[in-house]
Amino acid sequence: MTFKDLGIIDPILEALEAKGYTYPSPIQEQSIPILLKRKDLLGCAQTGTGKTAAFAIPILQHIYNDQIKNTGQRKIKALIVTPTRELAIQIGDSFSEYGKHTGIVNTVIFGGVKQGPQTQALRRGVDILVATPGRLLDLMDQGYISLKDVRYSVLDEADHMLDMGFVNDIRKIVAKLPTKRQSLFFSATMPPAIVKLSQKILGNPEKVTI
Ligand code: AMP
Repeated sequence: MTFKDLGIIDPILEALEAKGYTYPSPIQEQSIPILLKRKDLLGCAQTGTGKTAAFAIPILQHIYNDQIKNTGQRKIKALIVTPTRELAIQIGDSFSEYGKHTGIVNTVIFGGVKQGPQTQALRRGVDILVATPGRLLDLMDQGYISLKDVRYSVLDEADHMLDMGFVNDIRKIVAKLPTKRQSLFFSATMPPAIVKLSQKILGNPEKVTI
């Protein structure tokens, strides 16, 4: 099984080939077909398994295909929420690399730094926003971010977000997402609090465990 066999479009395949990726990792092989069918996904997987590409590739492919029909102003179509600045930067870099031939633009926002450069990037327009919860809510409250056009949402490392005390932030963010969307939820562990949170966010998800 190759990425081509999974039905990945040429502009993304080219970028994957340039990185030397021909074969999907197990989580990619299981998740990509589910995500290309626009189903919700509950993924039990750790960092290091190829989880980022498992969600980034289908999201890029959807936005690329949607764009062909609709060449309007850039609005945030995908939101990825992740617990730390380091993960946010890595995820943003992955979208940039896999999406380098697609014209799809992402930006990354996180706390602990000045917001000016982040709000400038948002004002220029992005298709994909990668964010940590606190800074995301802060910029939403200030009116720099609207989530009303989000069609794809990812909650990454949900167990770490709970451990870090982000559960109320997550609830507030999810409350602002349109109901008509594809939702992805990843966690390395599935304690009861995580299962409960996932049920609030996902509608009848497919489950993948690595
Ligand atoms: P992640 O779990 O998303 O942090 O990915 C772990 C590492 O595996 C990253 O350095 C990726 O660049 C790399 N990687 C992801 N998918 C593949 C693949 N299909 N083939 C080779 N390397 C990969």
